[in-house]
Amino acid sequence: MVALLAPLEAPVEPTDALRRIAFLLERTRSGTYRVEAFRNAVKALKQLDDGEVDARVAAGTLQQIPGIGKSTSSVIEEAARGELPAYLESLQDKSGGPLATGGEGLYAALRGDCHLHSDWSDGGSPIDEMALTGIELGHEWMVLTDHSPQLRVANGLTAERLTKQIAIVDAINRGVGESFRLFKGIEVDILDDGALDQTDEMLGRLDLVTASVHSKLRMNSAPMTKRMVAAVLNPRVNVLGHCTGRLVTGSRGTRPQSDFDARAVFEACVEGNTAVEINSRPERQDPPDDLIELALEMGCLFAVDSDAHAPGQLDMKAYGCERAERLGVPEDRIITTWDADRLHAWANPES
Ligand SMILES: [Zn+2]
Ligand SMILES: [Zn+2]
Repeated sequence: MVALLAPLEAPVEPTDALRRIAFLLERTRSGTYRVEAFRNAVKALKQLDDGEVDARVAAGTLQQIPGIGKSTSSVIEEAARGELPAYLESLQDKSGGPLATGGEGLYAALRGDCHLHSDWSDGGSPIDEMALTGIELGHEWMVLTDHSPQLRVANGLTAERLTKQIAIVDAINRGVGESFRLFKGIEVDILDDGALDQTDEMLGRLDLVTASVHSKLRMNSAPMTKRMVAAVLNPRVNVLGHCTGRLVTGSRGTRPQSDFDARAVFEACVEGNTAVEINSRPERQDPPDDLIELALEMGCLFAVDSDAHAPGQLDMKAYGCERAERLGVPEDRIITTWDADRLHAWANPES
């Protein structure tokens, strides 16, 4: 069950205070630069020996540590003195509440997420931080879906890097215990002809594959439909990511929907047992309402996903839940409400 994080109270460890501030800034879409100050301060503190924080607080020399500045050092000092840092307290008051009005029931019914990124591709945080935050939020499972090689601007993973990442995911799973599973996955590019941007052998080693169009978004409707139909019918593909590619708000500007025959694509999703993603990112809100309604009517499954590129963005599924609930998508048709075993068995019918 996914839930809002309870506010931290004093006394609080300095690293916990810094992590929570970063989380609250991320979930409310603060600038990357501000968030990074707090994430970097966590990294800097982790390098210190036991007792060094207290010694430096006493001596007033925290800011001599690379990665710790004025605002991060006052948070650390207040926490070290046993107080609730003032900045954390104000953020908790201002930015700690529900992100969306509506969809709360569905949000609480979520157990997983099929679409999130780490700093291996274009995300901002390491895999273990994404997993830890997911666990704190109450996820039972999440699928790590970094980008595929073609997406060079997003540092897409070659087969070699993906192989290394798989070993790291295995190690994380050994460390976290039974109550949470980090599944191996990918957000694989759908190439112009509908083929996938990773070897079939590599895809076969993953637990779940989310496939998305990231290039030639303005292709004509007929070839775009053919491209998307081929991808969702591919037995390796489990989720169709942000199907229209639209951007409705935000720093990257806006972008219209791709042109395709949605009826044909959703029909292929049903046939290929591929879920249609409800991408929760505020700048995407993809698919638009009318296409969610069409997919619902046609019998598709859905995945309410965060497409998180930072830990705090995992919470953005609240926006997708508001939309899914308002449009009447039944809970059982949403694969991110399923438990880990059911999800895995659905995504891997052969194994
Ligand atoms: Zn994408
Ligand atoms: Zn993505």
